[in-house]
Order: sequence, then structure tokens, then C-alpha cells
Amino acid sequence: MAGTLFHKVWDLHTVRTLPTGQTQLFVGLHLIHEVTTPQAFDMLRRQNRAVAFPGRTFGTVDHIVPTLDQRRPFLDVMAEEMTASLERNCREFGIPLWPAGDADQGIVHVIGPELGLTQPAMTIACGDSHTSTHGALGALAFGIGTSQVRDVLASQCLALEPLKVRRVDVDGTLAPGVFAKDVILTIIRRLGVKGGVGYAYEYGGTAVDRMTIDERMTVCNMSIEGGARVGYVNPDDTTFAYLRGRRFVPEGAAFDRAVAWWRGMASDAGAAYDDRVRFDAAAIEPTVTWGINPGQSVGVGEPIEAPEGDEAFAYMGFRRGSRVAGTKIDVAFIGSCTNGRLSDLEAAAAIVRGHRVAGHVKALVVPGSQAVRRAAEARGLDRTFVDAGFEWRGAGCSMCLGMNPDRLEGRQICASSSNRNFKGRQGSPTGRTLLMSPAMVAAAAVAGEVVDVRTVIGARS
Ligand code: SF4
Repeated sequence: MAGTLFHKVWDLHTVRTLPTGQTQLFVGLHLIHEVTTPQAFDMLRRQNRAVAFPGRTFGTVDHIVPTLDQRRPFLDVMAEEMTASLERNCREFGIPLWPAGDADQGIVHVIGPELGLTQPAMTIACGDSHTSTHGALGALAFGIGTSQVRDVLASQCLALEPLKVRRVDVDGTLAPGVFAKDVILTIIRRLGVKGGVGYAYEYGGTAVDRMTIDERMTVCNMSIEGGARVGYVNPDDTTFAYLRGRRFVPEGAAFDRAVAWWRGMASDAGAAYDDRVRFDAAAIEPTVTWGINPGQSVGVGEPIEAPEGDEAFAYMGFRRGSRVAGTKIDVAFIGSCTNGRLSDLEAAAAIVRGHRVAGHVKALVVPGSQAVRRAAEARGLDRTFVDAGFEWRGAGCSMCLGMNPDRLEGRQICASSSNRNFKGRQGSPTGRTLLMSPAMVAAAAVAGEVVDVRTVIGARS
């Protein structure tokens, strides 16, 4: 019978149905980092347990890592202690770790795919909401909490409710200046931040088929912002080409066998879905958030139409009917697990090349991993950014959230390529975040205010 990738992977990884009705699901890959693991390891110690599958568990540091000076010990005592604690735990429990300063360190959702740890038809868990990113390679990837991290460390299993599957088709061609970030912001705007609750999102359609893996990662990354538990794209030739030659991917005949198996795990033509929605790619505009959740977005030149009295208006300072274009910004941030990959940096560099960041704007570029940083430097992108007035930083989560020294101050407004615009998300309790694509952030940094990146592209062609 025709089935979806979701059901095939779920069934293959099911250990049993629990008395609660939940499924006990085997986890193929467990990615860990410094923030959600200290208590989980302490719980293991108290229960005198070992890590069940240390060979399926890999660690790195990302959230608290300073990006300006990454020498140890970190100046922030708490950050240093958290990092040292992860290092001790990984040593004690026999888990491979890419620590701060390592050539392969980076944001956990950037390095997993980069190293080839993330593979199609896998189940993946990580103590971070944006684990859905890994679905871009056809994996079912679950963000989990600290007690679940303990469960996975101890048993390599998770207790999960079965999900429904919504097929999200994006058909047609994106206009120049419109990116994967605009696609997912548009999807969340229409379906709502809770629209995906109880669902896995399967993304497809001709626009998604044409996307690179980096672009698919941007889309899958923000599935969780639309309420979906996981998001994925069926593995195809683009996926296999991306994976070939990566460190943890099988080689030679084993790779060919893996490809044949991965292909068979994709959703079948004629598979039944619990729901289907369709988007016209050509109608998607450069999109920017105006509110305090990622569903509160508009096309950059469009008036905001939310009902007057929405608390987002009071926090952000917009009014019904106003436009985000023309909003003066204080900070421009290019980075994060949504948009901190090489192609994101290339798209932003193409906009800033030969220009200067506006005098009143603090602008920083933070590569998602040390490998992204090296690749960008090999292409001279660091020079492009520095010459334009951006700060060029080391790898980490940086200003995506306020857990390291990169923070907004007071009511500053930040044009950000990250994924959350919640109140206080970027470190200041009153700071304001406008989510947008890296190219839009770059254009805003140069103009000093939010602009439609299509006007910049159009002016140069
Ligand atoms: S970049 Fe942001 S969303 Fe991504 S893992 Fe880091 S803190 Fe989480």
C-alpha cells in the first residue's frame, strides 16, 4: 500500500506501543549540546546508568559560545562551566564531542548535515526546538526537552504520540529576491503558529523540488514555529548528491545500496495525507515579521492588517495599516541554524559587496559552523563583509538568543536572519526582532532601514 515517508520511518523505528497509547520509538541519532544536557547526565548518574548507544550520540557546543573571542577559558564563568561540564560528561560516558575551538564545532543543526551524520529515513532527536532542520534530508527529527534527553541517553528511545501528516506543496518559481526564508514565513503566516500542532509537515511541489539542501533546511528549520512536530522533504537526487563524500556517509557500493534504500523510503505517489495545502511560489514576496511570533509577518511593502489592540503592536511600535519597509534598524544579524550556512552568507555578500553598512547600524555575520567560516573565508566573503563594515565572528548561535554576549540593548530593533521574534528573544527584555532572509538583512544593514531587497537587485541589473 502506498505510504508516506513519515509512516514508513515511524513503523520501522517502532519498538512497541506503550500502555499510554504512545509509541516507543528508537532514535537513530542523538545530537547533544551544552544547554539541555547537564541535568540529563546528572539524572543518569543518580540512577547509575550508562549511555545506551554512545556511538549514536554526538555532541557540540553552540548556544553559549562567545563569537568574538573563543579562547578558553571563556570570560563568562557560567558559559565556561557549562562547556567544561559537557566536556566532562562526554569523556565520562564515551561520547564523541566537537568542543569549542574544534575545526568541526558549530551549531548542532548545521554540523549534523555538514558531517553527514544526518541521513534520510533516520529518526533524530536533540534537545533543541529547531531539530526539525534535519528533515531537509528526509529524516524525522524531533526537538526534545531535558527529561527526554535523559530518556534517549539511557534507552535510545522516545515515547511519542503518533502524528498526522500534512502535505505542503509549493509549486511554481520564486521571483528574484525571494528566498526559502520567505517561503516558510509565508507558510507559517497562512497556516498559523499553532496550525501544525499534531502534524508532521511534508514539504514538496516544484519549488521545493528545485531547492538546494541548504534552502530545504531553512524551510524545515522553522516547521516548529508553525506548530508542526517535524518537517521533512522526501529524499531525492539533490539529497544524495549533497550526502556523497561526507564524513559519516557510507562510501562506494555501500553508498549505492544506501541510496536505493533511501529512495524506497520516500513517500509513494498516491500516498494518503491527513491534509493538503498548496502555495503558489510566484505569489510569495520578500517577507518580514512585524510582531512577536513568526506568524505575524507581511510582504515587505504590504500594510499590517492585524486587529488593533493586538499586544504585538504595543511591543513593536507598529500600527494597523503601517508598513515594515522604512523601519529604521539598530542591529543587523546574519547567522543562526536557519540562515547561517555558506549559501546564506553568499546571498548576503552579493547584496553588500561594494557598499557600506549605514553609520548607525551594528552589523554582524556569524557563520553557523567553523566549516562554514572556513569555506566563506576561502571565497573571500569575510573581506566583503568586513570591508562593508560588518563584524566577522566565530561560529555559534550568537544573537539568535540571549545566552551569550551577543545581545540587543534596550529597545533596539534588529533585522535578523534567525527564527524567533519572541519578546526578549535576542537578550534585551524590550528588544525588537524583525525576521527576514539574509539578503533582506544585508539590504537593511546598508540602507539603515528595512527595504525591499528586490529594489536593490533591480537597481544593479
Ligand atoms: S541558532 Fe538559535 S534556534 Fe538554532 S540552535 Fe542556536 S539558539 Fe537554537
